[in-house]
This record gives sequence, C-alpha cells and structure tokens, in this order.
Amino acid sequence: MPDHDAIIIGGGHNALVCAGYLARSGLDVLLIERRDFVGGATATEELFPGFRVSSCSYICHLLQAKVIDDLEMRKYGFEVLPLDPEPFQPYSDGRRLARWHSLERTQEELASFSLRDAAALPEWHAFWRRAASIVYPWFLRPPPTREQLRASVAGTEDAAFLDRLMTVSMGELVREFFEDEAVRGSFLQVQDVGDPEASGGAFCYTHIRCDAFSRPEDVGIVRGGMGMIANSLADSAREQGVQIRTGTIVERIVMDSDGACGVVLDDGTEISSKLVVSGADPKRTLLGLVGPDRLPAELVAPAREMRTRTSYLKFHAALDRLPDFSRYFPDSYDPRYIASMKICPSMDYYAKAWHEAATGRPASEPVMEVQIPSVIDDTLTEPGQHVMSVWGLYAPVQPQDGDWDQLRESVGESLIDVLCRYAPDLRDCLVDWSLFTPADLERRVWLTDGNIRHLDIVPEQYLDLRPMRGWGGYATPIEGLYLCGAGTHPGGEVTGACGHNAAHAILDAI
Ligand SMILES: Cc1cc2nc3c(=O)[nH]c(=O)nc-3n(C[C@H](O)[C@H](O)[C@H](O)COP(=O)(O)OP(=O)(O)OC[C@H]3O[C@@H](n4cnc5c(N)ncnc54)[C@H](O)[C@@H]3O)c2cc1C
Repeated sequence: MPDHDAIIIGGGHNALVCAGYLARSGLDVLLIERRDFVGGATATEELFPGFRVSSCSYICHLLQAKVIDDLEMRKYGFEVLPLDPEPFQPYSDGRRLARWHSLERTQEELASFSLRDAAALPEWHAFWRRAASIVYPWFLRPPPTREQLRASVAGTEDAAFLDRLMTVSMGELVREFFEDEAVRGSFLQVQDVGDPEASGGAFCYTHIRCDAFSRPEDVGIVRGGMGMIANSLADSAREQGVQIRTGTIVERIVMDSDGACGVVLDDGTEISSKLVVSGADPKRTLLGLVGPDRLPAELVAPAREMRTRTSYLKFHAALDRLPDFSRYFPDSYDPRYIASMKICPSMDYYAKAWHEAATGRPASEPVMEVQIPSVIDDTLTEPGQHVMSVWGLYAPVQPQDGDWDQLRESVGESLIDVLCRYAPDLRDCLVDWSLFTPADLERRVWLTDGNIRHLDIVPEQYLDLRPMRGWGGYATPIEGLYLCGAGTHPGGEVTGACGHNAAHAILDAI
C-alpha cells in the first residue's frame, strides 16, 4: 500500500487550499514545503529585527469567498483590514488623486484634473464589471476555451464587447475613457502583458478585475501580513488531518509504468502515494521534478517555451517614523490615507518602464505600488515605527549589463531617489531597506525566473492555454500527476482558485 493517498509538493497558499479540500473529502494527504514555513509568495517574514513584512504579495483582493468559507479561514485567524483610499496617487507637482470607496468623492478628486474624466469614472467601472462578468463565472471551474467564452455571450450585446475585449490594448482603452495624462497614468495597468499598446492587454487584465466580484470584507490588508492567509489555511488543513512537513525539499517525482507514484526527498528518502500534486511552478515541475528525460517527448519543447519573461521588483523598508506626505492632504492628514499609493504620472512613464525592462534594463523610474500597512495594522512593528514596501514594475529576468547581485544596490538606491520626489524626508526615516530582484525572488521562493504568477498571464497562457496550448487545467499528461499552483487556470494572485479547482479535478477523477 502507498504511504499516502496524495503527496502535495510545496506549501504555497494554493497547495494548502488543495490539501484542505482533499483532506475534507477523506484523503490522507502529506504536504511537503522546502522552506521552514508555509506560504510561498504569501508569507510574513521578519526581514529586519522588529519589523515584519508581507515579503512578496501584499494585498488581498482575489481570494475567493468560497475558499475562505469552505476552509473556515476566519476561524483560524484570517482577518482583512480595509483600505480607503485605494490607492492614493501623489504627483511630484503636489497634486493628488485619491480613489476613495465613495464614487462621488473620487469624482471630486478627478474633477480637479478633468471634468470629462470625472464623468467617465462610472463608465470605466461598468466596463470592467462587464468584462469580469464574462470571465469570472469560470474562475472556480475548469478553464474555458475561447469558443466556450464566446458561446456564453452569443446572441447578447456582450458578444461584440467580448470580441473587442480580447484584442484591445490597455493603452487604447485608457485613452478612450480619460483625457488627462496624469489620470491616464493612474488608471493604466498592464500587468504581465507589459506593453501598454499590446493587443490582448485588456483581456488579460480582466483576470485582475475579477476582483469586482470579491466580497468587500475580503479585500484589503491582511492583519499580521499575508502569511496569515497561509497560516490559517495550514491550521485548517492540519485540523482535517493533513500532515505538513516544512524544511523538506522534494528532489524528484517518482514514476512507474502507471505514472506518478511518489517523491524522493533531497536526503534520498522515498515516499509513495497514489497521486502526486505539485504546487511548484509548471516549469520547475516538468523540467525539474519530472525532468526532460522522463517527460513525454512532445512536451519537452512546449515546457521549455512556457513564458516567464515579465518580472518585477519588491522593495522593503523599515522606517523609524512615517515619511511626510502632508503636502498632499493640506486639510486633514489621517495616516491611513497613505497605506496604499501608486506612482505612475503618465502613460509615457509606464511605457518607458516596460520598454527599458523589455530591453534588459531595470526600469530607471519604475511604476510603483507603495504600501505602508503598519498605518492600519499594529501587529507588524512597535508603535511609531513603520514598514513600507514597493512593488516595482518592471525588471528584466536577466539584466543586459551585469547580474542582479551587482545591480541590486544601485537599483534600490535609484528607487529610493524616485520615492523622495514624493516624500522628500524618506531617507531620514529609513532604518534599513532591502530589494528583492527577480533573481532574489527565484532564490527565496523558487519561482522560475522570479515569475510572480508562475507563468506570465499573457493571451497565449490565459484560460485553456494555461499552462500550455493543448493542455489547460490540472491533470498533466502524466497519469497521477496534477498541478495546483498559480501556473494553472485562473492564474497567479492570491486566489486559492487554482488549489480549489485542482482538488475538484482530482476528486472527480478518482
Ligand atoms: C513580489 C510579489 C508580489 C505579489 N503581489 C501580489 C499581491 O499583492 N496580491 C496578490 O493577490 N498576488 C500577488 N502576488 C502573486 C501571488 O503571490 C502568487 O501568484 C501566489 O502566491 C502563488 O501561490 P502558489 O501557491 O500558487 O505558489 P507559491 O506561492 O509560489 O508556492 C510554491 C511553493 O512551493 C515550494 N516548492 C517549490 N519547489 C519545491 C520542492 N521541490 N520541494 C518543496 N517545496 C517546493 C516553494 O518553496 C513555495 O513555497 C505577488 C507575488 C510576488 C512574488
């Protein structure tokens, strides 16, 4: 008899979700995580003594209500604190654009840039709700083909809308809705597609905007950092009997003539199971844990070609006081207003950041999503001290000039310089800082090429083409081997959906 019904490789949040569902259906599950703690890219770490940070992901916006409720996450300590505004954008000339929960309040802010743009805001929201209402119904189901998606809206006004959504660029859309360049910069977001003028940018961005269907109480900053998502999932899974082994590396997947049947650890220990589920990324799983010599020959080239080219920076700082943003809020200055900030003053600024990275250079002026969660969450550091993080867009996987170890310091310093345009006293507040480059993200989390979503979410790796053309979903072409991580549909972000869908695919199959 095999040692376990299922072995799950990796302890990312999706693997924990998958483990929780399998155990609730009566399977005996062993989950093996390489690091000493679970969570993968959903973790809280004490990066500087006395300062705890969400080391990779930092905002909870797509975690599925069904997963939260089914796995009773709130019972195990998961709690979300709301952000308002989300985000606030400072401009170096002293103007600000804060996006409040209240539509009218946000329109008032927009009106100081352009009355037309203020009037367009409800239509912008309606556009994304309409887009998400086509894609979101598939979030917790196996991935649809383009034909299935089209069939779901055939004969309705959404048919022409979907045709356009599939090809329009984010740049074209933003220009269509907004006239002011500063406003356009604020609303432009291209994620992994990167190039604002690339076809399909809006289609892939719909993945992110599926958060239109997240419950308001599930959107915001996680109290205790993102690691509390993983910890609550792990506690919930343990309660259902899942064995979780941390600090243990799976070296390879064992296969016999019937398919996957266990794993070998890096100390040579072999553990058998009826099936193997990998929460590691698809490239690492297929090319590393299975290996090109044991992969079906026709999969080797497509596995190598899976796209992991879009990369980002993650910057962390420990602060002994808050940087001064008061010039942006002359009337009243509630520190919570600066919990979430975006820096992207124009579309040209965004395009430059992308094109520099696409040609092998770290963005000299990155687009930034800045977070100071400690103004809302008092568990991260001592009173009066703060933690700040920046998600920086974009960075090449392999820099053209030198390697990331040589570039880290100067790239981090220039990122601080850019931030100082908005908060001139920032350097006086810094206790310490650290920059995670794509190479660091790979080293720390074992994300191939530091890819934050395991594979780029681009048209050719979206929906049924994820992880690859001809094989969308969770069961790999190797009998008994499944994927459950962000490289599967619906894709990266902290959703729990990949783990949920993989577990259901497994339960349907056995
Ligand atoms: C810098 C950054 C910022 C992000 N920001 C956000 C955000 O704000 N909001 C959001 O929703 N999403 C964000 N994301 C994306 C999101 O965090 C990821 O897409 C998601 O966490 C992936 O989860 P996962 O469970 O699929 O895989 P992972 O979190 O990648 O987990 C995989 C796990 O497998 C383990 N592993 C791999 N190989 C082995 C092996 N051989 N043996 C044992 N263990 C192994 C790894 O150590 C890792 O713990 C961000 C990601 C990054 C990196």
